[in-house]
Amino acid sequence: MSRPLLMIPGPIDVTDEVLAAMSRPVFSHVDPAFITIFGQVLKDTRTIFQVGDDYQPFVVAGSGTLAMDSAVANLVEPGDRVLVIETGYFGRRMADICQRYGGEVDMLVAAPGDTISAEQVAIQLQQADYDLVALTHVDTSTGVVTDAQGIAAAANDAGALIIVDGVCATAAEEMRQQDWGVDVYLTASQKAIGLPPGLALWVVSPSGLAKWRERTTPVGSYYSDWSLWLPIMESYEGLRPSYFATPPVNLVVALHTSLQQILQEGVEEVYTRHRLMSDAVKAGVSAMGMGQVPTAADHAAHTLTCPRFPAGVNAGLLGHVRANGAILAGGLHPMIKTEYFRIGHMGAVSANAILATLGAVETGLRQSGYAVEPGISLAAAQAVLAEH
Ligand SMILES: *Cc1c(COP(=O)(O)O)cnc(C)c1O
Repeated sequence: MSRPLLMIPGPIDVTDEVLAAMSRPVFSHVDPAFITIFGQVLKDTRTIFQVGDDYQPFVVAGSGTLAMDSAVANLVEPGDRVLVIETGYFGRRMADICQRYGGEVDMLVAAPGDTISAEQVAIQLQQADYDLVALTHVDTSTGVVTDAQGIAAAANDAGALIIVDGVCATAAEEMRQQDWGVDVYLTASQKAIGLPPGLALWVVSPSGLAKWRERTTPVGSYYSDWSLWLPIMESYEGLRPSYFATPPVNLVVALHTSLQQILQEGVEEVYTRHRLMSDAVKAGVSAMGMGQVPTAADHAAHTLTCPRFPAGVNAGLLGHVRANGAILAGGLHPMIKTEYFRIGHMGAVSANAILATLGAVETGLRQSGYAVEPGISLAAAQAVLAEH
């Protein structure tokens, strides 16, 4: 393959089957064949999010930020008290959105690379009568995975709704929306779901829908308003034609293909494979003598790795790595932006892609003047892969 591997934390390389699905002739959005595909997509979304039929999936044209916007626009009313857990860049964005819709926001902010525990959240929830808690499952700017299960339990105990931004986690990082009591779990197509960018997905619990129905003020965004989208989702699932705003038909067809591929592999197997690929990359990174942004392995995500540049190396490394065949991402967290880079390894990523990427980083490090023994990261990664 002559093109470089796209190893960033979204968008990601997609499978040949997804690419082929994207290039089918364009459907009418009310073609019975398309309606059937969309209906199946909604059912498959429930399976992957691990929820029952009383949870409502939404699949809407937009990026992950639209999913965040829609969750907040519909669940936060002016004056509502919101607790936002910030473990990086996207937590800040969530707080901004909550404020935009009139939420009174308090934040628990982790130092870059650190996380916030369920115990810390439970203590904060005793300080005021919060309506809603929001957290980022995996923050893509730090590679930190946060205890969504524990924090959701704390929110449930306190009678607050909970929104989890799963954009960099869905279909990769373990997640059981219903068992964990998460009211909105949201994501986007271009991360582990394995599509090009362009779709926002979110699933709402019965209590989330109830809180939305009890609103006393109109939703402050037209495009995000669930009252416009809910009938559309119900129609597609009920195999009836309907229209509010034209769905991106080719992306929906591709989503059908991608969700089928995930279900064929098995959701648990997909989680296991992401853990394995992540362990292999992290072993390789350590073998090259690089630290990582997450301050402990138990809160390091399995969808990306955030190595710290070794002394004397800077973001110029990424140009070398790209020339060696892998596209990586620079830093994103404003406080440490220049100190680290990011390797995405989610979706249908293979062991081959991981070894090729580590090789490209090794060579790039030598080209950047940092001595690293040839093959040392590959040996470390292969040892992890061989254990399984
Ligand atoms: C990528 C990402 C987003 C934003 O998604 P866009 O599709 O870029 O709008 C939000 N949250 C997290 C955790 C992300 O990784």
